[in-house]
Amino acid sequence: MDELKTSIEYIKGIGPNRAKLMREELNINNYEDLLTFFPFRHIDRSKFYKISEIPKNNIEIQIIGQIIDIKIIGQKKGKRMVAKLKDFSGEIDLVWFKGYRWIKESIIKYKNYVIFGRINWFKGKASLPHPEIQIEDDFKKKIGNKLHPIYHSTEKLTNSGFTQRTIKNIVFELLKTKGNKIKENLPNYLINKLKLISNSEAIKQIHFPENNLLLAKAQFRLKFEELFILQIKMLIKNIERKEKIKGFKFNKIGKSFNYFYKKSLPFSLTSSQINVIKEIRKDLLKGVQMNRLLQGDVGSGKTIVAILCTLIANDNDFQSTIVAPTEILAQQHYNSFKSLLKETNVKCSLLTGSSTKKERNNIKNKLIDGSLNILIGTHAVLQENVEFKNLGLAIIDEQHRFGVAQRSKLWLKNNLPPHILVMTATPIPRTLAMSIYGDLDVSIIKELPPGRLPVKTFHRYENKRLQVFKFIKDQIDNNEQVYIVYPLIEESSKLDYKDLMDGYESISRYFPKPKYQISIVHGKMSSEEKKIEMDRFINHQTQIMVATTVIEVGVDIPNASLILIESAERFGLSQLHQLRGRVGRGKKQSYCILMSSNKLSENGKTRLKTMVETNNGFNIAEVDLKLRGPGDLLGTQQSGIIKLKISDLVKDSEIIKTARNEAVKVLKQDPNLSNKENLILQKTISKMELDKTFWNLVS
Ligand code: ADP
Ligand code: MG
Repeated sequence: MDELKTSIEYIKGIGPNRAKLMREELNINNYEDLLTFFPFRHIDRSKFYKISEIPKNNIEIQIIGQIIDIKIIGQKKGKRMVAKLKDFSGEIDLVWFKGYRWIKESIIKYKNYVIFGRINWFKGKASLPHPEIQIEDDFKKKIGNKLHPIYHSTEKLTNSGFTQRTIKNIVFELLKTKGNKIKENLPNYLINKLKLISNSEAIKQIHFPENNLLLAKAQFRLKFEELFILQIKMLIKNIERKEKIKGFKFNKIGKSFNYFYKKSLPFSLTSSQINVIKEIRKDLLKGVQMNRLLQGDVGSGKTIVAILCTLIANDNDFQSTIVAPTEILAQQHYNSFKSLLKETNVKCSLLTGSSTKKERNNIKNKLIDGSLNILIGTHAVLQENVEFKNLGLAIIDEQHRFGVAQRSKLWLKNNLPPHILVMTATPIPRTLAMSIYGDLDVSIIKELPPGRLPVKTFHRYENKRLQVFKFIKDQIDNNEQVYIVYPLIEESSKLDYKDLMDGYESISRYFPKPKYQISIVHGKMSSEEKKIEMDRFINHQTQIMVATTVIEVGVDIPNASLILIESAERFGLSQLHQLRGRVGRGKKQSYCILMSSNKLSENGKTRLKTMVETNNGFNIAEVDLKLRGPGDLLGTQQSGIIKLKISDLVKDSEIIKTARNEAVKVLKQDPNLSNKENLILQKTISKMELDKTFWNLVS
């Protein structure tokens, strides 16, 4: 048996109760889990301060000295133990507010101690609250004056006396006794090629590095392994899918596609759009299920690609569906489908949460008997009781608003899974895409339709409001339409609604009827009300649309050429970029005005500045990623998908590239990993497969 699979309760100092806590709090079960529970930083314990020379700020310091006096002082909540520490240069108080009984008994006066802690300056006097203390000889015998690891612990663990220091000591002992049992996970040829240190060496050095260079080597080695296995896994998934998961063959290009392409296409496609359609066409001919991500910045024209794909499905006698994250967007898609397809005999319907029972039943019947060709809708489409006669293609718009689980629901809508196309405007850096969508094939629309002028973006403070309103008036007098957007961070937040309604009132005063007409749309309205208000704006019966973020994604009203975003500092970058994408959809010069209060956080300033400086979704995504980390960037729905032990999808993008390249090469040589030298990889993969959190993402 593998000794490293032994339960941690057998480790001295842990026992069944703490083991249970470790399992629940940190998902650590056995020796191996503990050894691969990596520290998140290290502190240099080679430097010692003289008491007389400790710095005047609250940093962590280390001192060698003797304890010459111990007292318990104060009453009730102020009760504490104070130990006086002396070195040849001066004295300082060590203070404990709790858990000091045991410490008091164990301290030996006039013996040299190594003390480590964060200085606390109070009224010109320094003290060290709850320091780490160790007899100097023990310190030397154990980890000593090297880099010491710091681990994440949790409140529960700390409260039960199991601090990150305890973890450190236990890992130290475990490495001493079992370190030689750590096995290699990567094949020799890779280790040699990339000059990696061995797994056992890396694990020793990641916890207790001899120096910074070895620490860096250990980090590189462990990150590479993690990312490499992730990439191998994704690539295998992709290959397997192509081999095993049969798909419908769409080999006819028929009437409706051709007719539409020649007769009703409202514009000529950009070459990017044409390329993407070709890529998709190729997929659909293979007899293998398509799993493709279509990425294209806001306004790049993804909808028309989706429409053309549904027509291909239709020509091959298959049904298709498009799922959008909001009702407004589903409604809009439905409108464009209806008007673009009016001269064809393709039948299309809309299904959302607010469809009536009658509509719903009608749709369900027609889906089953096959007389309905295209179903457009929201999450409602994903429900189990929505069944198709022959679903051949499922398209998800604004994929970043959905979770992976929703994508997989579509798989079950036919005996053979339908082809899947997911579309997203949230541009993500390539290295991140490799990790998150690594199992999908990717198509990118690289250009915007011709004649688009970049949106001009300005940042204005509240004191310029009148000028901004004047500018809006000028635009409206010029026959333009305007969005005014209010933050609605939480659907239920009363304060946000108050902001919205107050804003609406003052706008109504400044832009009085009958000359000016205003639409308003927010999440508390019924979908019927929303639809009426949207339609009034679409038909240019109103010039101003006051809205919350319900219009954030997808909405396409080309005549709107100005968007004013109120309290812009409260929005995230990708949200701001999406909102700005509501304008600049026609040939006219469009404007985006970001209104903010004077009080801006550093982060807020960076966001607004970035918006003013660039229109490029990729650049914005890079900044966003740095500010927020990948979880948030992908939307709340997807955060937490990727739980990596040591790598950081943002900071380690170079390692991701290396890992991806190597993984591609290895699989090219040996697609089944059946060569003798690669058997070790099979083992590593199956080992990682047991770790569910790690593989959540690719399942
Ligand atoms: P997104 O990629 O954000 O979903 P849409 O599909 O909504 O973009 O398209 C944005 C706007 O550009 C729409 O008004 C659409 O009709 C228009 N459009 C799309 N493709 C072209 C093209 N090739 N030429 C001109 N206009 C286009
Ligand atoms: Mg869109």
